[in-house]
Amino acid sequence: MFGKTTTTTNLPIVIDRADHNVSRKDISDNALKVLYRLNKGGYEAYLVGGGVRDILLGQHPKDFDIATNATPEQIKELFRNCRLIGRRFRLAHIVFGRDIIEVATFRGHHGSNQDQPAEQKQSKQNLSKQSVHGMLLRDNIYGSIDEDAERRDFTINSLYYSARNFKIYDFANGITDIENKQIRLIGDPETRYREDPVRMLRAIRFATKLDMTIHKDTAKPIPTLAPLMANIPAARMFEEYLKLFLAGKAQANFNLLAENNLLEYLFPHISQILSANTNTAAIKFIQRVLQNTDNRINEGKRVTPAFLLAAVIWYSLEEKIKELAASSALSPQDAFFTTMQEIMSEQQQRIAIPKRFQLPMKDIWFLQDKLARREGTKAFTVLEHPRFRAAYDFLLLRGEVEGGELQALGEWWTIFQEASDDTKQQMVKGFKGVRSSRRRNTRRRKKPTNSE
Ligand code: ATP
Ligand code: MG
Repeated sequence: MFGKTTTTTNLPIVIDRADHNVSRKDISDNALKVLYRLNKGGYEAYLVGGGVRDILLGQHPKDFDIATNATPEQIKELFRNCRLIGRRFRLAHIVFGRDIIEVATFRGHHGSNQDQPAEQKQSKQNLSKQSVHGMLLRDNIYGSIDEDAERRDFTINSLYYSARNFKIYDFANGITDIENKQIRLIGDPETRYREDPVRMLRAIRFATKLDMTIHKDTAKPIPTLAPLMANIPAARMFEEYLKLFLAGKAQANFNLLAENNLLEYLFPHISQILSANTNTAAIKFIQRVLQNTDNRINEGKRVTPAFLLAAVIWYSLEEKIKELAASSALSPQDAFFTTMQEIMSEQQQRIAIPKRFQLPMKDIWFLQDKLARREGTKAFTVLEHPRFRAAYDFLLLRGEVEGGELQALGEWWTIFQEASDDTKQQMVKGFKGVRSSRRRNTRRRKKPTNSE
């Protein structure tokens, strides 16, 4: 497919402009501006990673990443709109309003830094750090382009496009893997996963996103090395959650993660349910929600990270509430709040869910019970709740898998929402109040809010 000029080892395969399909019109103006400015400043600069890979595959890149031999400080000098970020991996962000172009200085090998310019020669201790598991805690040793290419994760992510001569430089046989649709780690797979276990998630994500297969040597160590995921900070896991589950391939990623023993490091609760294989409603429900999420994204509809998170945990929450209510003197409502706090804090240890998503999750859960209570003015109050729509959609999906009363309840709400005021009044007339003991319990609580 692509014409190539093969050179000797250590030097890249060079693909001339006429022999590849990466055109400047596929690259954002801001990314081009950054490439030109770096070049004009006397530095090497290349588009790299997803920006090149996705265009070669005929897809639209999600973002554009640039690699350069300029140090972060030198980059900052060139751009007024530059922010230096990251500790583990120092990067420059060039900010154009909402669009951010990420610029990374070429990474070098951790073994030696003698080739580094004098101004970069700080104590190696400060620049590079490894955990006892072989994980890179800091990766700030700078190097040359070929070293940078080796430090990248997959061969298909290690292609460099120059806006100076429009050539692509391939240091790791990435073009061949693009042609063969293969995800292949650069270097020894086990070492590379130990350096950064998130690469296991990335292998799965790229395989589903790009419709590729993971090369057998790259795939093989994953189920055994999966426990290394336990060392990844929960904040980074949230970023990975978004990329895995809100980009149109949630269902495929979920299933591949489960097959590779990785799911429990994201979602311990649903992972337990899957292993036990007894709660069929839960398993059907999660598959349906994943499918729905993908459909919505692929149709360009809005999705909230909270809905899927709420769904992944729902049946475990329900099981545990039942257990607690049966084994303690707590009221159903207290059992609900106690279990919710507990399960949320267990989940937070894996994925740091920001407050702005935790609150809607709790609302969706809390409203499931409220949707069943329709007497007096209750149905009208629930209808006014800002999270009614999400909670109602959630109920419909539960109804679809469970059928019976739950499905009927969903249908009731479908009619109620659309009904005239008179019909609405008629619809709630038949409902009786709840048991007085519950009411007493509710009143005794200081203030049961849904945003605890
Ligand atoms: P996308 O942006 O579509 O998710 P991407 O390949 O551009 O895919 P980024 O996370 O934006 O992924 O990273 C940009 C590039 O940085 C990658 O293509 C890869 O070359 C390198 N990279 C990112 N994460 C790692 C990692 N954990 N280990 C090694 N290299 C990485
Ligand atoms: Mg990218």
